[in-house]
Amino acid sequence: MALTKCPSCNKRISSKARECPHCQFVLAGQSKEDIQRERRRLNQEKSDKLVSRSMLALIIAIAAFTYLFMQQPQPQSWGYNIAIGGIVVGLIWFVINRVQLMFLKKKR
Ligand SMILES: [Zn+2]
Repeated sequence: MALTKCPSCNKRISSKARECPHCQFVLAGQSKEDIQRERRRLNQEKSDKLVSRSMLALIIAIAAFTYLFMQQPQPQSWGYNIAIGGIVVGLIWFVINRVQLMFLKKKR
């Protein structure tokens, strides 16, 4: 019995399985092309999500930086702490999404 990868969740499943036991993705009755197309579509969806998430993270970092630059809040004030937090979290989030995107592209 050969093993294949579920096109939906990428877990190893039997090639004879009618549906994925992990995510219930239906495999039966689908041709190889159908499954390939579905896999590509899901990858595209995932990468779109990562791109928009990384843009959101970048916007947060830029907004926080702009606030810090324009308002120049007192160090240790809540506004200052929130701005610094926003920059750090935004940048880290951005990098995480970009790295995930890189791995997704490599896998294809
Ligand atoms: Zn699955």
